[in-house]
Amino acid sequence: MLNQLVVMALVGVLTACAGSTPKPVPPASAPTATLAPPTLKSGLDLAGFDRTVRPQDDLYRFAAGTWLAKTPIPADRSSYGSFIILEEQVQEEVKQLIVAASEQPNRPLGSDAQKVGDYYLAYMDTTRVESLGLAPLNDELARIDAIETPRDLARYIGHSQRLAVGHPFKWFSSPDKDNSTVYVGVLYQNGLTMPDRDYYLNPDAKYETFRAKLAEYIEQMLARAGVRDSNSAALRIVALETSIANNQWTKVQSRDPVKTHNPMAPPDYQKLAPDLDWLAFFEGMGTPAQRLEINQPSFIKGIAQLMKTVPMSDWRVYLKFHVLDRFAPVLSKQFADLQFDFREKTLNGVPEQRPRWRRALESMDGNMGELVGRMFVEAHFRPEAKARVIELVGNLLKAFDGSIDELEWMSTATRVEAKKKLAKITVKVGYPDKWRDYGKLDVRSDDLIGNLMRASEFEHQRHVARIGKPVDKGEWLMTPQTVNAYYSPLTNEITFPAALLRWPLFDADADPAVNYGGIGSGIGHEISHAFDDSGRQYDGDGNLRDWWTADDRAKFRQRTGELVKQFSGYTVLEHPLNGELTLGENIGDLSGMAVAYKAYKISLQGKPAPEIDGFTGDQRFFLGLAQVWRRNYRDAELLKRLLTDAHSPNEFRVNGPSSNIDAFYDAFDVKPGDRMYRPPAERVKIW
Ligand SMILES: [Zn+2]
Repeated sequence: MLNQLVVMALVGVLTACAGSTPKPVPPASAPTATLAPPTLKSGLDLAGFDRTVRPQDDLYRFAAGTWLAKTPIPADRSSYGSFIILEEQVQEEVKQLIVAASEQPNRPLGSDAQKVGDYYLAYMDTTRVESLGLAPLNDELARIDAIETPRDLARYIGHSQRLAVGHPFKWFSSPDKDNSTVYVGVLYQNGLTMPDRDYYLNPDAKYETFRAKLAEYIEQMLARAGVRDSNSAALRIVALETSIANNQWTKVQSRDPVKTHNPMAPPDYQKLAPDLDWLAFFEGMGTPAQRLEINQPSFIKGIAQLMKTVPMSDWRVYLKFHVLDRFAPVLSKQFADLQFDFREKTLNGVPEQRPRWRRALESMDGNMGELVGRMFVEAHFRPEAKARVIELVGNLLKAFDGSIDELEWMSTATRVEAKKKLAKITVKVGYPDKWRDYGKLDVRSDDLIGNLMRASEFEHQRHVARIGKPVDKGEWLMTPQTVNAYYSPLTNEITFPAALLRWPLFDADADPAVNYGGIGSGIGHEISHAFDDSGRQYDGDGNLRDWWTADDRAKFRQRTGELVKQFSGYTVLEHPLNGELTLGENIGDLSGMAVAYKAYKISLQGKPAPEIDGFTGDQRFFLGLAQVWRRNYRDAELLKRLLTDAHSPNEFRVNGPSSNIDAFYDAFDVKPGDRMYRPPAERVKIW
């Protein structure tokens, strides 16, 4: 359980789902070789371009149109693009390593090869999974049956944290916003089966349908598990989840670092929610009562009231359902298929399950990620890539520093503070210096659900053990095999896992323009998160501290307000984007692109860039960026993301920011009348 709730990632976290028949994976389009020796190749996939579109009208479709038209979404995906293609490639590579480990004779008990190999074998042993049925969950379900009182319920909610169930709220450790050198326990709202409170509360017919399907899903899950009166139980669970949704904060409210900062000592939360038996909750977690950061206090208060007013029989079926839903992917086919039908087919529009081996690898990433990561890095990561990327990051940081100097709207006092924060950013590239120790994690080849439960307990204990202890600055919040990147405001660090450092983001053999447009913009994006509407409220040490003058704060808000308006004006499938929800990521994209362009110019040291493939260096910068973001979505997935993803749909991650950057106008000679044209006064510049 990562504290990724306060981490800003480069792309929305991909939801894990479920698989059937393995089928060949289409290879990623390779960059086309160029005819321009002796220069480096461009790194552009020219075959993916759509020359019937003008870049001045739609940069995204000019650079990606043919690829978008020719690349169907595979049946087991809700969307398909560069990041997912890379993810699939990485999985193919990791699979070979893991299968090899599982085939090693005489693997010593407790060795990495034994753990990795046996986890995989257990996951793939469907014969055993079918024969066991629900038996591995019997103890857990019996524990829920024994809940009689609100005190029992509080104790069980504490206990459920050990299973990574965490309903109706979850607990995890995170650096303290007041003192980022130590860990504090955090409570974060949770408790729903569907992706967002809107799915429960929006009167629109589309959500009405989802609610009806949810009731069917719960009913069938309970019936298959032998729960009596599953029909009425399902309706009561939907009613309870609707009450929980009513108490939840919106995603926009939950993005506010100040409103979600509510440190409380035991007497404080006792007073906030006297109906919740806190001692029993901590007993269930296996820790003494402790200070808590309560992100959404009114939610916890509301839940405590529900614990008193909703009958225990309703809570019992609710908790049973959530245990079944949590483990359904590793239960027998009748449970796994049922969950796939609702979670992937109904909610995301995915027709087919992913192959089981991919689901096994996803599960391993979550439960023993750095064991797998270490094998991946040793086999597939070139040290030269790390050195090149560190050099790129250095140039980006220099360019960002120069940008701060040039900000005409900011006072010297705030600028000095911003530069101090920038100088304190920690950079992590490739893989952790110190790998996580999984020595105490017991993995068995004949106990799939037991492996998942022990891994969740292992992770829970890792979080429990560090409350009040110094923050581990070397920790990675993503595994090296993750195709993503992040900024963490609480540690003021940017992190780029090994799996991200590949074409189309980065190609060691390509001309710098596309690398600055690709990974360069990604690096700029992560740096910019330190200074977006949320990140700017933390200082260089990761403490929540306002270092802005009132005047600069007002000017920043005026500028970001313009960006909110711009993005709220874009629509997909006739729905407007949520400019507030996506503000932080849009700032990251805009400022990241601007600073990466600046860094590219610095890297040229005044020399002209060669023309390659018929494009100037400046043009290739923007085209390289655009090809990174090419991606097709299923409608249901796109609609879900409009409500839940802090990132804008990919076409707006390209066209939105570039339409604000003067260099784009110069590169392509964009003029009034062109569709991407904005008058200079309407172009937003933040960093
Ligand atoms: Zn981001």
